Amino acid sequence: NVRNDLRNIAIIAHVDHGKTTLVDELLKQSGTFSEHEQVAERAMDNNDIEKERGITILAKNTAVKYEDKRINILDTPGHADFGGEVERILKMVDGVLLVVDAFEGCMPQTRFVLKKALEQKLTPVVVLNKIDRPMARPAEVIDEVLDLFIELDADEDQLDFPVVYASAINGTASLKDDDQNDDMSVVFKTVIDNVPAPVDNAEEPFQFQVTMLDYNDYLGRIGVGRVFRGTIKKGDQATLIKRDGTEKTFRITKMFGFFGLKKEEISEAKPGDLIALSGVEDIMVGDTICPPEHPEQMELVRIDEPTLQMKFLVNNSPFAGREGQHVTSRKIEARLMTQVETDVSLRVEPTSSPDAWTVSGRGELHLSILIENLRREGFELQVSKPEVIIKEVDGVKCEPFESVQVDVPEEYTGSVMESLGDRKGEMLNMINKGDGQVRLEFLVPSRGLIGYTTEFMSQTKGYGIINHTFDSYRPRAQGHVGGRRQGVLVSMETGKTTSYGMIQLEDRGTLFVEPGTDIYEGMIVGEHNRDNDLSINITKLKAQTNIRSATKDQTVTMKRPRLLTLEEALEYLDNDEYCEVTPQSIRLRKKIL
Ligand code: GDP
Repeated sequence: NVRNDLRNIAIIAHVDHGKTTLVDELLKQSGTFSEHEQVAERAMDNNDIEKERGITILAKNTAVKYEDKRINILDTPGHADFGGEVERILKMVDGVLLVVDAFEGCMPQTRFVLKKALEQKLTPVVVLNKIDRPMARPAEVIDEVLDLFIELDADEDQLDFPVVYASAINGTASLKDDDQNDDMSVVFKTVIDNVPAPVDNAEEPFQFQVTMLDYNDYLGRIGVGRVFRGTIKKGDQATLIKRDGTEKTFRITKMFGFFGLKKEEISEAKPGDLIALSGVEDIMVGDTICPPEHPEQMELVRIDEPTLQMKFLVNNSPFAGREGQHVTSRKIEARLMTQVETDVSLRVEPTSSPDAWTVSGRGELHLSILIENLRREGFELQVSKPEVIIKEVDGVKCEPFESVQVDVPEEYTGSVMESLGDRKGEMLNMINKGDGQVRLEFLVPSRGLIGYTTEFMSQTKGYGIINHTFDSYRPRAQGHVGGRRQGVLVSMETGKTTSYGMIQLEDRGTLFVEPGTDIYEGMIVGEHNRDNDLSINITKLKAQTNIRSATKDQTVTMKRPRLLTLEEALEYLDNDEYCEVTPQSIRLRKKIL
């Protein structure tokens, strides 16, 4: 007995492969949007930062109707910092829609989520999008997807995945790669025909598990999840079982279902439905909700523990006065607390100063996205260099380690191995894939990875791909964990190159330049790359600037100087320095306390 009127799927796509366009089109063609909404909103990915960084951060729900059926579509975050969240989202669905650009093919960034989906025995449906592109190579890309599935240990049924050839932008789709005669109904039908419908056990005692949190000023904290069993009705008595097994009884007062991009209040939820529940004060990810006479806790879901922490402090403004500063502090604190309401891997703790907090998160990306959001919302603050969280395990001081996977063209393997070696990484595996690409696997202390992405992108000229997941707490790696970088120094005054030379950045923060190179405070120097122009604002010249021998002249062209990104700023911070984050910019700044 199944709910043939319902399917739950998660969508997996590399950035720019057309996920948003596809979901918009599904909404549009199914008439789930009203005419007005079509213009006003886009389905997923509405966060600018997500777009810029090429990842999705927060899972979003979209529900589309096709004939008498409903398909719930959940977005998946594509970065390993959010591994726990990915697992929880995948627990709510029965299938995944893998959207792949018919020209670019499967990108390694989607591997992480895809692997989890295949492990959880979810049914895949592949959408080969952008089939209209003149360079599209559908047959080859399907082979690549198949190879990837095999590599990720997909089972027989999963290898037999259905393929829809689509042009989301034209609103067309087909089961064949040589025509585009149909509309998005092909996508709907393929999902409905292949993804298993939820089991209909409406008569059994209900069981619901919170897998995500939402927050709203009026409703407070909202628990989002799937009804795994039974029927929940408004007004029902229910028991909430916390992670630690403690229970509390309450009455179901407000439930919401997803319709298009919106939530609407509902009075009854059936097996397989994805719903949002409000009115339970301290509802938390992992909580089970069931009838008081059948208290049965569901298997716990994974929540990633924070491994990295930073200090956030209010920008000291000489003009603000104590009262002004106090107001700013309260605002920042309230904003951070709202974030904690929905982000289970984030911790905010007070410090001895009322104007500073210790903020802990899953990784550098996780924290920098929060900071970048605050900046865009107009907050001014300072942040410290991130530090890993040390834990005592059996009396031994341990630090977090990450398992790191690198895919690079062969010629860059040496420099990557050297850099990760400097950062106390241990190489576990090296696979030559035979097509000029090499896969390297390392175990690296998390602190060694701080700021490494920028260096990695420059040393592999943008061709490398790096992914990491938390591995374990292990005894602290001995010695210094540092990075080194070489590049061309360019000073830019009104966009012109005025002097140049070699730079070497050592120990993250000290800049070594050649003799005769003009370098002064206020100048912006850049590292010249193929398509990545790192710029550093020189705010302080240090006495120990090392002068080395010169090399011959080179002509360098530079792109327009730009401001530091947060990752870059953090990378160049010294331990006692703070990075200033204002709505206009991010810059290095000496600690003023
Ligand atoms: P997302 O990052 O995966 O959400 O990708 P978007 O939906 O934002 O699409 C990325 C870019 O690809 C946009 O410029 C789209 O207009 C374009 N695009 C999306 N679908 C298609 C398609 O079927 N064909 C072509 N040629 N371009 C597409």
